Amino acid sequence: MSAVATPPSTLAPFANEPYTDFTKPEHAQAMRRALDRVLSQFGKEYHLFIGGERRTSSHKFESVNPSKPSEVVGVHQKGTEQDARDAVEAAYEYFPTWAAVPMQERAEMLLRASAIFRDRKVEFDAWLVYEAGKTWAEAEAEIAEAIDFCEFYARQAMKLAKPDPVVQLAGERDEMVYLPLGVGVVIPPWNFPLAIMVGMTAAALVVGNTVVLKPSSETPTVAAKFAEVLLEAGFPAKSFSLLIGSGAAIGDTIVAHPKTRFVSFTGSRDVGLHINELAAKTPKGQVWIKRVIAEMGGKDAIIVDRETNLDQAVLGVLYSAFGYQGQKCSACSRAIVDETIYDDFLDKLRQKVEALTIGPSDDFNNYMGPVISARAQKSILGYIDKGKKEGRLIAGGEKGDGDGYFVKPTVIADVDSKATIFQEEIFGPVLAVTKAKNFDHALELANDSEYGLTGAVFTSNPAKIEKAKRQFFVGNLYINRKCTGAMVGAHPFGGFNMSGTDSKAGGYDYLLLFMQAKTVSKKVGGGAAGDGRAGGE
Ligand code: NAD
Repeated sequence: MSAVATPPSTLAPFANEPYTDFTKPEHAQAMRRALDRVLSQFGKEYHLFIGGERRTSSHKFESVNPSKPSEVVGVHQKGTEQDARDAVEAAYEYFPTWAAVPMQERAEMLLRASAIFRDRKVEFDAWLVYEAGKTWAEAEAEIAEAIDFCEFYARQAMKLAKPDPVVQLAGERDEMVYLPLGVGVVIPPWNFPLAIMVGMTAAALVVGNTVVLKPSSETPTVAAKFAEVLLEAGFPAKSFSLLIGSGAAIGDTIVAHPKTRFVSFTGSRDVGLHINELAAKTPKGQVWIKRVIAEMGGKDAIIVDRETNLDQAVLGVLYSAFGYQGQKCSACSRAIVDETIYDDFLDKLRQKVEALTIGPSDDFNNYMGPVISARAQKSILGYIDKGKKEGRLIAGGEKGDGDGYFVKPTVIADVDSKATIFQEEIFGPVLAVTKAKNFDHALELANDSEYGLTGAVFTSNPAKIEKAKRQFFVGNLYINRKCTGAMVGAHPFGGFNMSGTDSKAGGYDYLLLFMQAKTVSKKVGGGAAGDGRAGGE
């Protein structure tokens, strides 16, 4: 093991991982070298990893570079239903062994994983650039978040190993301890193919669950690299399986399996609802109610009030709408702007949007890279066509130049709240702008959504800030800053309504979702068993 982790007993308080500054020549050079090294590994074949064994499949698929789709990043196996069943069975068999490992040891493994990530930062940056189309800055934020999740959950796990004492009744010794649940199915999305996957998997594993990890087939190479890190960090080969393949084909098998104890999902509303419904069924032989942690889509709004610094607000909207091509669940897809500053806002925003650079994400000079796939590009362009009829095109409105899956940053103004592009998650660089009569009207418009993930308000008026705190119905509300870029520990993340179960990833309660509590009350001294009083359960 190359990387050295700090033992949990001597841990400093949690602090977010700093970002590498690529404007410094030495860091830029290191990144360019990493891009070259990763490029030289393109086209390599990766395996499924089930119950500690590598497997191949007769059906393969290729993951491509969305900036240059003729380039094959990795060749992957399409797992079968049998692979899926085997993965759950293997995880079930190994669960008692893994659950018996002391929390301290599991936390140490997670800290080692964090140290390995830190050692291999630019390499992971490069994989994210090539497989997910992240720009350097977005990739760096993501690897830093992956490190944060490992560091934060390792510390939280140590605390849960010694929970606060319960009230001690006279004549008893009372305690409550937390136990792992069992086999966890972890299903992350492609848009944070490392950070979200690491966070969900680390949380489940560190508290003693075994995991069947089914990553998105858009970004399987990043997942294969993560599996390498887990093994190098000392996680036993049987503590997790890496099951790659079509979500629809093998997803149902692992979710419905009677030995699956919980499902941790992050992705779209429709898939999340489907999983929730399927997991609610109790197939023969299943002796528990499956727990579902589901974090889903967003249609996030930024309110720009008349009492604000307009330039700051324009930048806040710009970065939230077009960072990572608008493919963040937290991305701003609705700007709701006070009518008195509406025209100025649009004018300033248009100038900024037109100045954004777009092109292959391995070029540091590009602010925006490609969207993830040809399918995504087609769907986004379809929404843009609809949006052109539902509002007034201000900027963009078409695909970008080159072979990559580029879509120009698009702004559509005068959009009614009942319009499709105001209501549906597009998941691309498309911003709808809507005029509000006043602050109350702006709040009403912002809440006119089935989602409730993030939101932001730009205003200098303290009373309006207080009102937004009470009435803007989202899981993560930001004041006078962008609505993306949640930081582990500071901004526990999760949404309301159709945005999911509000599990608050990166927060103090998150690990409890992966555990169940057991109370043990022991009679001490002589006397009768129980005092005969009525009451209680
Ligand atoms: P998706 O729902 O298409 O896929 C998510 C995962 O589910 C993938 O691994 C996919 O293979 C798998 N899957 C698909 N069908 C399945 C099935 N029947 N059974 C089991 N698994 C199945 O979402 P996506 O396109 O990967 O990601 C984008 C979506 O994720 C957006 O809606 C975005 O808002 C959301 N998202 C939400 C958060 C959050 O924290 N709320 C974070 C990131 C992304």
